[in-house]
Amino acid sequence: MRCFFVFLGFATQALGAGLGSYPHLVVADSKGAARDSVRVTYLGTNGYQFEFNRHVLLVDPYFSRVDLWRVALGSHIQPNATRIDNGLRHLACRNCRTDAVLVTHGHFDHLLDVAAVMAKTRARLIASPTSVSLIRRMPDANGLSADAVRPGDVRRVGPWKIRVLSAAHDRLFGKVPYDQPHSEADLAAEALVKEESPQRAADWVCGQPLAFLIEVNGQRIYIDSGGTAAQLPPNEQVDLAVLGVALPDSRARLRMALARLQPRYILPSHQDDFFRPLSAGFQFAPLSDFSFVQRECAQQNKSRLILLDYFRPWTLPKAENRKGKFPNPKYIDHGSHACLHRCGKQLRVGMTLINAV
Ligand SMILES: [Zn+2]
Ligand SMILES: [Zn+2]
Repeated sequence: MRCFFVFLGFATQALGAGLGSYPHLVVADSKGAARDSVRVTYLGTNGYQFEFNRHVLLVDPYFSRVDLWRVALGSHIQPNATRIDNGLRHLACRNCRTDAVLVTHGHFDHLLDVAAVMAKTRARLIASPTSVSLIRRMPDANGLSADAVRPGDVRRVGPWKIRVLSAAHDRLFGKVPYDQPHSEADLAAEALVKEESPQRAADWVCGQPLAFLIEVNGQRIYIDSGGTAAQLPPNEQVDLAVLGVALPDSRARLRMALARLQPRYILPSHQDDFFRPLSAGFQFAPLSDFSFVQRECAQQNKSRLILLDYFRPWTLPKAENRKGKFPNPKYIDHGSHACLHRCGKQLRVGMTLINAV
């Protein structure tokens, strides 16, 4: 595993592109936009803020962005208070209440900052028993409210209805990183509750991966951090599907996941390079494959593929009807060129895009 991260360290320096090639896919609210439905803000990695009517949910908030070399070398890692403060300042919402922090699994890029975020927002944690146990080992975890949940559980917090679903974690070279069998992980984490806080990336074990189906104001959002074809989302139509696509496993199940969710909007997630500070801007990770993601999403022609930039909120439009109003641009083959067929402008964009990735 360490060798892999060392390789990634060099690859990261050699590769990487931002969102600049996809201006037609990046959505954000314009000034003065109506905020009459749920507002989505991307925090990087697999982190999101959902806001409705001054109520906030956070999912996998991770601002510290630990340096890759610290992970690769097994060095001590810890939350970066300055970066967490900066991240939360970007999210400032006057008179908003943060109802809960949802966490998909225990890896450091999902859970490392959660205790600090909970302490600052006074939000309760909704996560797997393993993640809850890891949080309880953090310094100053006393007084934090944590709710260990399992697939099938339902929680109602403020205006939110949160359904907890089973999920899977992508494999890296055939193995889930920093994994333990779920039951053993739960037991080990419980046994260590009174011991020292997690020190290295490998201490932040995966545990039971979870997905969430969030309902608010008549809209439905599905979110996970990746997965495999062995564990697909439910057959339920949603307004927005936030699907992790970091690694080949999660990309291989993408088309099947979309067929089940039939989302109006598709937001591929966890495809940025999360070893770079947020202030350096969005850059695709070396193992991402956005051209593949685009092709898979194009099969779902009642869905619209979107991208979000860091800290640029976007309000999820209300559905005009349940059948969806936002057909995806379709890729068609014109001899040796792949292009988009909707209008001349998009055709040019599409060809640039195909050539660029
Ligand atoms: Zn993970
Ligand atoms: Zn992750």
